[in-house]
Amino acid sequence: MNKKTVKDIDLKGKKVFVRCDFNVPMNEKQEITDNTRIIAAIPTIKYLLEQNCKLILASHLGRPKGEVKPEFSLKPVAKELSRILDKEVIIANDVIGDDAKSKAENLKEGEILLLENVRYHKEETDNNPEFAKKLADMAEIFVNDAFGAAHRAHASTAGIADYIPAVSGFLIEKELTVLGDAINNPERPFMAILGGAKVSDKIGVIDSLLDKVDTLMIGGGMAYTFFKAQGYNVGNSICEVDKVDLAMQAMEKAKEKGVKLLLPVDTKIGKEFKPDTESKTVDWTEIPDEWEGFDIGQKTIEIFKEELKKAKTVIWNGPLGLFEFDQFAIGTNEIAKVLSELSATTIIGGGDSGAAVEKAGLADKMTHISTGGGASLEFLEGKKLPGIECLQDK
Ligand code: ADP
Ligand code: MG
Repeated sequence: MNKKTVKDIDLKGKKVFVRCDFNVPMNEKQEITDNTRIIAAIPTIKYLLEQNCKLILASHLGRPKGEVKPEFSLKPVAKELSRILDKEVIIANDVIGDDAKSKAENLKEGEILLLENVRYHKEETDNNPEFAKKLADMAEIFVNDAFGAAHRAHASTAGIADYIPAVSGFLIEKELTVLGDAINNPERPFMAILGGAKVSDKIGVIDSLLDKVDTLMIGGGMAYTFFKAQGYNVGNSICEVDKVDLAMQAMEKAKEKGVKLLLPVDTKIGKEFKPDTESKTVDWTEIPDEWEGFDIGQKTIEIFKEELKKAKTVIWNGPLGLFEFDQFAIGTNEIAKVLSELSATTIIGGGDSGAAVEKAGLADKMTHISTGGGASLEFLEGKKLPGIECLQDK
């Protein structure tokens, strides 16, 4: 990585503003249902504590849209963080108000302050310079470790770096190293599996991966637009008629580049959008009217499986079916299982794909599960991430 990290500057005793991604899922009782993102921030926090820093942590949670809403408070995160670290975490009642300012001013070495949700201010997402400066004024150094928000040019992810020296934490370093190595210097054969709901979400990544991979496998809702592009009926399957051209172009590009493009040869279809709907498996060219394609079929699973066995590097983004319904989770689960048994580098990027692997209990069998869905996609597309660009060069 060509950006400075916390290891590249002297942080001893400094007051440090650390942007974390504590955007964790919660239930109606404001209990955290998955603390993965908090755990992912721990290595950087521990290192800064060892350096006797005074830590000011900041994050967004959900989309309060510039208003103070208690259901988006970071208080439960402070509690969970305190439990994990076995250490007091002071919570500020606001972000840049008197409470935050005085608590930040009075911080002692080795103490941790968590600010309230930065998105309580619309200036955060507007990347307002005065707001960014107020955040910067609380500290001496900016450490960005919020990979999940690195594709956003917000005040606390990028704007703040205009006022104080900015470096990355260990999570961002790890994400960039793993994703960067895979994309720029992969051990071959290098394969990608793309799924998820829409072609429009992923066309950028399809296009850039076609420059890099040996094999591209496509499943999920996206596949039906590719079927349509070849003139076949897709029934009620999700299909973006206006993206048929893009699907054609992708197929042509694959041919030109000598990339093996594998589309489903069969699909499991259902009558209605409900968990226990009547279902059956048909060839990809045989989807009847009134039926919807919800998963890849068994023949496709076998073909993908055989291909994957040859891989040395695999990137997977997007579930291969409507995995929220058990009977259509088979493709996603089978492919997750195959990946977990490979001796290849296996990288999962994408919120829902990560959740599917987690749900299948296979998370620890993968080389890396990215903490940033949107950020990892944009990185793989070759886009510049504002939260990374703003950091000091090595
Ligand atoms: P990720 O978060 O991993 O990037 P996406 O957000 O692009 O993935 O897509 C995930 C969603 O796509 C899931 O909710 C899943 O149910 C849906 N999906 C996948 N295949 C289909 C399908 N055949 N029909 C409808 N929805 C699908
Ligand atoms: Mg998603």
